Amino acid sequence: MGALDSGAEKQRIPILLASSNAGKLREYRELAIGSALELNLLSGFQTYLPFDESAPTFAEIGAGKALHYSRFTKRLILADDSGLVVPALGGAPGVHSARYAGAHATDAENVRKLLHEMEHLEGTDRRARFVCVIAIARQGRVQAVVSDFVEGLIAKEIRGTAGFGYDPIFFSPGIGCTFAEASPQEKNLHSHRGKAFRRALDFLG
Ligand code: IMP
Repeated sequence: MGALDSGAEKQRIPILLASSNAGKLREYRELAIGSALELNLLSGFQTYLPFDESAPTFAEIGAGKALHYSRFTKRLILADDSGLVVPALGGAPGVHSARYAGAHATDAENVRKLLHEMEHLEGTDRRARFVCVIAIARQGRVQAVVSDFVEGLIAKEIRGTAGFGYDPIFFSPGIGCTFAEASPQEKNLHSHRGKAFRRALDFLG
């Protein structure tokens, strides 16, 4: 029987998130409800040598981050990398999603820049996808790398106040509104992160 199977003997699986972001922990804990995972932040995350996130792919960054931080603990490590890909912009903002408008750009500045870059684009040229790579590692060995994505369209203006990042301009045909207008449950059901995390759960189970 897998460790995630239901039953009285359900075995807890402690796993540490390679992040200092409490918001990210909250989001993953919400996704882990009903599973055997016990998610916590890797304590002292910011005191360790930081992982260099300059690689050009989500997979390299996700796997590299998991491998790097797994050397500082005996526990399982979960690391992720995610971002928005717009084919009509050659894949931008891609791995630079968090800092599209500059090194310390805010979400609002990144959104404004993307809307500006896409001003001249119509119809299918406004297609975009969110991508998420999740890597699981233990003590210097990567055990699994899973990924998934969700497709949508970049709206012409912001709509909704929930979520973060590019959510207010990511129109999800699956939900019928932007991610920022959707409930957290609806977003988790359709999102790149929700789908990738369910794959990670399959592996851990
Ligand atoms: P990271 O994976 O935490 O490095 O996130 C990279 C960046 O991609 C974020 O700062 C956001 O700008 C963007 N991003 C990733 N996932 C989402 C999402 O679910 N909604 C909106 N923006 C996202």
